[in-house]
Amino acid sequence: MSALMQDRSGPLPPSAAAKPERPAGWPAPLPEPEALGFGAWLAPLAIVATHVEGQGWSPPQVLARANAALPVASAAVQYGLSVFEGLKAYRGPDGRPHLFRAREHIARLRRSAARLCLPDPEPALCLHMIELAVARQLDWLPPPARGSLYLRPTLYAVEEGLGLRRAREHRLAVVATPCSVPAGQARRLWAETELVRAAPGGLGAAKTAANYAASLLGAERAKARGYDDALWLDAREHRYLGEAGAANLFVMLDDRVLTPPLDGCILAGITRDSVITLLREDGHRVDERPIALDDLLRWQEQGRLLDLFGVGTAARLFPISELGWEGASLRPPGSEQRTRLAQRLAAVQEGETRDWAAWRRPVDAESPDLRA
Ligand SMILES: *Cc1c(COP(=O)(O)O)cnc(C)c1O
Repeated sequence: MSALMQDRSGPLPPSAAAKPERPAGWPAPLPEPEALGFGAWLAPLAIVATHVEGQGWSPPQVLARANAALPVASAAVQYGLSVFEGLKAYRGPDGRPHLFRAREHIARLRRSAARLCLPDPEPALCLHMIELAVARQLDWLPPPARGSLYLRPTLYAVEEGLGLRRAREHRLAVVATPCSVPAGQARRLWAETELVRAAPGGLGAAKTAANYAASLLGAERAKARGYDDALWLDAREHRYLGEAGAANLFVMLDDRVLTPPLDGCILAGITRDSVITLLREDGHRVDERPIALDDLLRWQEQGRLLDLFGVGTAARLFPISELGWEGASLRPPGSEQRTRLAQRLAAVQEGETRDWAAWRRPVDAESPDLRA
């Protein structure tokens, strides 16, 4: 047994037990990875490329984040012409960095851009910029199993002018934030039956600023009632489950798992897809079908409702311990299958298993085209 392990075998003083060590080379301003949370600390660089109509994309530049300023008269600020992605880089057990499902995130960015009349973010350029954001800030990526570097590619109209039209000048910028391993804490959700986040034919299937603008008040209303977040319902009848904040929903019954269909009003989550795939691999039946609040109540009364949970890149997977709405409340008992699924998803994302290797793309920070 090593000296280090012997040290740890005795009772630890309370302060040492509460505060994990700082990794070697960890940036000075940051707390240890376990205290980062999500989105509070921004890495210093922005990787930026400009698109000018008729000229196409410029080569990417590596800038200080503060220099990627946006004019107030831009269509991004005035009209919400802005789409984004959120994906994570992790270190595998050997310490080497990889991106999780980068190709799928870039494909979705292209679909979001098309819906908002923004120029096509070329996949090769986009991938290169994401890799640059990781390679040039490798010290901001927590050690294996201690967190991730969340990457936020954003495409937005920068040209100034107040007429509403397709802009002629856009920017693609990748910024990053180091974050803790998601705690997977249970959340209590309130089903919002008045406000609407996305309607058929609208922007619900695009990852765009407007969807968040539409949802903030609902989240605040849920919090005022003592819940953690809103659960969004369909726009017509306010009856069918949509999604929660930035997470897709799953319902675990005694003999199958259900998730709302991709009807254009919810985002096609990459984590949703990973979870469906992993559940089916494990022998579960997964149905994508409309799920009404009354269905959930009936299943709860019949004792068939085992679990409710949300999934997304930022939060990974969190149980929903209570779902409330006017005159009703659901408290699913929770299930061991969900706990196992969360562990399996974490192992696949972080590269602790060799399975699903095609979902992980190594970032070779030493390759000539990523070095300064
Ligand atoms: C990003 C996002 C999700 C989760 O998608 P992932 O690809 O799993 O991260 C779900 N809903 C909304 C509205 C989102 O913006």
